Amino acid sequence: MRKKDFDVVIVGAGPAGLAAGYVLAKAKVNVAIIERGTFPGSKNVMGGIFYRKALDDLMPDFYKEAPLERHIIEQKLWLISEDSVFSTGIRSEKFNKEPYNCFSVFRAKFDKWFAQKVQEAGALIINETVVKDPIVENGKVVGVKTDRPDGDLYCDCVIAADGVNSFLAKSLGLREKITPNKVAIAVKEIIGLPENVINDRFGVSNDSEGVTIEITGPYFEGMESMAFIYTNKNSVSIGVGTIIEDIIEHKVNPNDLLEKFKTHPAIAPLIAGGETKEYLAHMIPEGGYYAVPKLYTDGFMVTGDAAMLVNSVHREGSNLAIESGKLAARTYLEAREKGDFSAKSLSAYQTKMEESFVLKDLKMYRNLPHLLEEKRYLLTKYPQLIIDSMYNIYNVDGVSKPDKIKAIKERLKKDFGYWNLAKDMFTLWRKLG
Ligand SMILES: Cc1cc2nc3c(=O)[nH]c(=O)nc-3n(C[C@H](O)[C@H](O)[C@H](O)COP(=O)(O)OP(=O)(O)OC[C@H]3O[C@@H](n4cnc5c(N)ncnc54)[C@H](O)[C@@H]3O)c2cc1C
Repeated sequence: MRKKDFDVVIVGAGPAGLAAGYVLAKAKVNVAIIERGTFPGSKNVMGGIFYRKALDDLMPDFYKEAPLERHIIEQKLWLISEDSVFSTGIRSEKFNKEPYNCFSVFRAKFDKWFAQKVQEAGALIINETVVKDPIVENGKVVGVKTDRPDGDLYCDCVIAADGVNSFLAKSLGLREKITPNKVAIAVKEIIGLPENVINDRFGVSNDSEGVTIEITGPYFEGMESMAFIYTNKNSVSIGVGTIIEDIIEHKVNPNDLLEKFKTHPAIAPLIAGGETKEYLAHMIPEGGYYAVPKLYTDGFMVTGDAAMLVNSVHREGSNLAIESGKLAARTYLEAREKGDFSAKSLSAYQTKMEESFVLKDLKMYRNLPHLLEEKRYLLTKYPQLIIDSMYNIYNVDGVSKPDKIKAIKERLKKDFGYWNLAKDMFTLWRKLG
């Protein structure tokens, strides 16, 4: 009989791998998580927003002890041009009540804490070890090769949670090479500011309340860019993510884009006097539903960013990673009951994912990446029209409001035509509905 080191080997100790490891360890499965970093989180750059629900289902009330920054009470969306901002969003006291909706977080700290919980549940985490290849025998994945001497590990099932570049999913033919239109590069800074300054500037009353601002619009000159500012306890995370294809076409340096963004008249006052603590860059899979590969093969499942599971419209990624890790682990437990780790048996993971919010949400936005590629003006001309119209309506210059509305209608007709406007609205409704 072939040697077996573990029941399951998980590759990558991000949220997907840790969630899978937690479920398996709790069920007394002999599981190892292989992480190339010096500790889980050491390679992670996400100082972002963590949605509570997916992890709370696994670890009720985790947020009471996890290292989190601020719970978010207000989420804003800004459309910006060179000199103006149109702002919308939601602030609610419902978001200010436990168990809270989401938190700002530093993943380097958070993943370390999560990993500790996973170890306490009984999983083995092996750090500073790179998985080089899957081991395939008779068409089935039966283990992984690592960069350690004698580092081949055999198991019943491998769960890939190795992030956006998933070498494993690619080498097993589940994933195609990532193309520049399916992935964004995000550059980001952590800017230190005193807590009271952050509270004043972002309109919150104490250091546990937080605000997010997502920013897009004509300022980014038709590039598919989304900038963001998130409040941490005594710093803000500020960054810009742009589809790589646009970076190439527009010949811009992502760092220059962030530097310019920081000087925008509405942004500069929010970070004034702050000190850059960290500078980071990372890729985000943004291909959406059609970029999600088949999620399993014999002895193998793929989760999280490795499976391109990111909902960029709602900047959700880590919660999708946790949900997929959890469902992969549950699929393994069912497969173990049957003693069958074949592709047929593991296909239950695909079904579970299709029934979950993860693939349902991605499916809803399935046509958006293509639509934005085709109709770039949705990111420029319409937001510009909104910004200009709001400016005109609020600018008291002796012109009557009916005349202003008439001028807006005329511009709408001239720039788009009512027919094209109706077509665009219908397309948006149909593609997002
Ligand atoms: C700038 C930025 C901002 C973001 N903001 C948000 C946000 O606000 N909210 C949100 O929900 N999501 C956000 N995301 C997305 C989120 O970070 C990811 O969706 C999430 O981290 C995916 O989790 P994962 O476990 O699949 O992969 P990862 O977190 O990438 O973890 C993969 C792990 O695998 C390890 N690894 C990789 N290859 C190997 C190998 N061969 N051998 C061993 N180990 C390996 C890595 O070191 C890493 O620890 C953001 C991403 C970026 C880049």
